[in-house]
Amino acid sequence: MLNWNTIDTVLLDMDGTLLDLHFDNHFWVEYLPQRYADKHGQSLAWAKQHIYPLMQRIQGQMDWYCLDFWTRELDLPIVELKREVAHLIQLRPDADLFLQALQKSGRQVILITNAHRDSLSLKMERVELRTWFQRLISSHDFGYPKEEQAFWHALRAEVDFDPARTLFIDDGLTILRSAREFGIAQLLAVRQPDSKGALRDTEEFDAVEDFSSLCPSLTVEC
Ligand SMILES: [Mg+2]
Repeated sequence: MLNWNTIDTVLLDMDGTLLDLHFDNHFWVEYLPQRYADKHGQSLAWAKQHIYPLMQRIQGQMDWYCLDFWTRELDLPIVELKREVAHLIQLRPDADLFLQALQKSGRQVILITNAHRDSLSLKMERVELRTWFQRLISSHDFGYPKEEQAFWHALRAEVDFDPARTLFIDDGLTILRSAREFGIAQLLAVRQPDSKGALRDTEEFDAVEDFSSLCPSLTVEC
């Protein structure tokens, strides 16, 4: 599927790509509204009615990914609440094998995430990811999410890579389209970002069905 001879750099998203999106989905869709309802002595339905429209309005924008924004907006300690369900943070199947194979192959491997630094830290406490990457980049460092071209220009200024010889894997289709517009040559979506969710139609993009299927073409050791 991929011609690894034409790939020097691999850019990888975190949530829904390397990590099971079930944690994030459960937290934002169920757990946070429940805790908001508890705080106000209201029903879960009331809390969802309050929170969901706000989420929809800012989806894909920097605030959507910003824990400081949500802490302020909902007056709830978001990082602490996330910690309460942190046992749900886990790698997607065979993501570690894939990362190991990438490292052995000697390619430049960089994590690029829209996750806030506090989210990133919490996830690093639960899952050892740091070791596989030359760099861990949060879009909050640049002030633009991956959905915007400004992110890619900032990344290019910060990291030496050739977009024409780069593979990028992300579960977000809007983000993949943004990467394509910038000129990233090889793009893959993710078939099942949430282990409890349905298989997704990834539209014009090929998708990672499972990481073990990418490994054999990468190195003989995998
Ligand atoms: Mg993602």
